[in-house]
Amino acid sequence: MKITDVRAVQPACPSPPDWRTSMGQILVALDTDAGLTGHGVGGGGKAGVHVVRTVLRDTLLGRDPERIGELWEVMYAATLAFGRKGLAVMALSGADLALWDLRGKAERRPVAELLGGSVERPIPTYHTAWDEILPECVGQYRAFKLHIGEGLARDRVEAVAGAVERARAAVGRDCPLMIDAWMKWDVATTLQIAWRLAPLKVGWIEEPLSPDDLAGYADLRDQCPIPIAGGEHEFTSLGFAPLIAERLHQILQPDVCWCGGLTDLISIYRLARVAGLRVCPHRGAEVWGLHALAALDPDPLAESGRPWMTWVTGQPPIHDGFIRLTGEPGFGAGIDESCLQTL
Ligand SMILES: [Mg+2]
Repeated sequence: MKITDVRAVQPACPSPPDWRTSMGQILVALDTDAGLTGHGVGGGGKAGVHVVRTVLRDTLLGRDPERIGELWEVMYAATLAFGRKGLAVMALSGADLALWDLRGKAERRPVAELLGGSVERPIPTYHTAWDEILPECVGQYRAFKLHIGEGLARDRVEAVAGAVERARAAVGRDCPLMIDAWMKWDVATTLQIAWRLAPLKVGWIEEPLSPDDLAGYADLRDQCPIPIAGGEHEFTSLGFAPLIAERLHQILQPDVCWCGGLTDLISIYRLARVAGLRVCPHRGAEVWGLHALAALDPDPLAESGRPWMTWVTGQPPIHDGFIRLTGEPGFGAGIDESCLQTL
């Protein structure tokens, strides 16, 4: 089998009016002389599309898509001068996922089975809510995460505590509850908030600091009474290696559509397993990550997907807080190919 075309587009969708629109998710399609097309989702918006249509296209055309590990290394090397982290790796991730989708379609098996897992495994899910947890969501998921919003700058400790108290009251005493600060705090603020929240049984604090503040994360590892999660904005197993070696995050959250695709998510799982750390992939309930959770994760918890990704169908439903893969080959995603006709 040979790759005959490499296509990419940023499909229009009702994403939030911030970077997720301008630099949002892209679709990558790899066509082959066997008549099969593999699909993957990456990131980086139109800049990511440009990376795929130029450097990655030059790299992949005419190659055997079965040699995924080799092609990952070639793509990484081809983008090294301007890549390593950020949107070039987000673009590479989409191409890597398309290669895995092709392998599954060629073998007529779901990706989870290629990884040694089973599509029958029910996976518990958690829901990410912005600012408040709506009553109609309670009972539909096994756990919840509260995304702490922008409007909490004044008297931040008490404002966060109030929001988490309301969330705890909404979900009940025993339901796991986590919070996400999305890189907006510093060490002192995080510690103040963590000690204030200690009675509320918060499962983790996610990304309290900039991903580059490794010294700050070391302070939190040593002093914070609540486990620290992060990695949604880290890239490749090379980027995760120091986080894991120093145990700077207790829960690792690679995003398979950004971190280097499934190939590097597998490497991150391997590193985490050796270190005894938990992996809880960002947006893990979306089909692109769900196969890895089903196959590789000893204690899976899948984060709810993003509702604005309307151009991907085939997403399995969540029942009673659990999600289960279908037996469709590859990732089992349905793609509206008409969005690729607008090139
Ligand atoms: Mg997050």
